Amino acid sequence: MAPPQPTVLIVEDEPAQREVLAYNLEAEGYRVTRAENGEEALILVDEDTPDLIVLDWMLPSVSGIEICRQLKTRSETRGLPIIMLSARSEEVDRVRGLETGADDYVIKPYSVVELMARVRLQLRRTRPSTVGERLEFDDIVLDSESHKVFRGDALVKLGPTEFRLLSTFMEKPGRVWSREQLLDRVWGRDIYVDTRTVDVHIGRLRKALCAHGGEDPVRTVRGAGYALG
Ligand code: CA
Repeated sequence: MAPPQPTVLIVEDEPAQREVLAYNLEAEGYRVTRAENGEEALILVDEDTPDLIVLDWMLPSVSGIEICRQLKTRSETRGLPIIMLSARSEEVDRVRGLETGADDYVIKPYSVVELMARVRLQLRRTRPSTVGERLEFDDIVLDSESHKVFRGDALVKLGPTEFRLLSTFMEKPGRVWSREQLLDRVWGRDIYVDTRTVDVHIGRLRKALCAHGGEDPVRTVRGAGYALG
């Protein structure tokens, strides 16, 4: 089972530009979804929340600016990084773009290398385990580049599913995840897995983390799910 890759939503009405962007993002290992206009983008965000949005400013009917403003005012999507694309290079537009809450702003024509670097930069902040960052929580260290986990000095042996569970927890310590949210994040939404499977793998993760002693860092939250710390 391949690890779920970060999903990037491209919102761009010009097919050629959309496809070039999709091609480059897929080549970098991202999962790509596409919207041709703002309305479609908002529906897609609800159905299949991406990890990042590349949003064109100039779109038919609802502009990218308006879409960005809407997403940044909703609590569920506020933290979703948005990179705005625009052919408009005037400084005042740039400021306006960032004022709507966009996390970054790239002027067309852009260099693919630069855009990819900016995508990575945003994901390093919001989904660090997907871009090879090293995560720490208490005495647990997870190196997503080498796929190794240490607790204190001891190497923790984890299966691929337990590794992804722990990555998810370590990206947001303290956050309570429901079993459904863990299924989406760890198994991917395209696969049908029973929620009890989550409990089985949580059990394995706990066992592995405590194999060399130490307290169980995974908290069961009755009626809600699980959290780290
Ligand atoms: Ca456009």
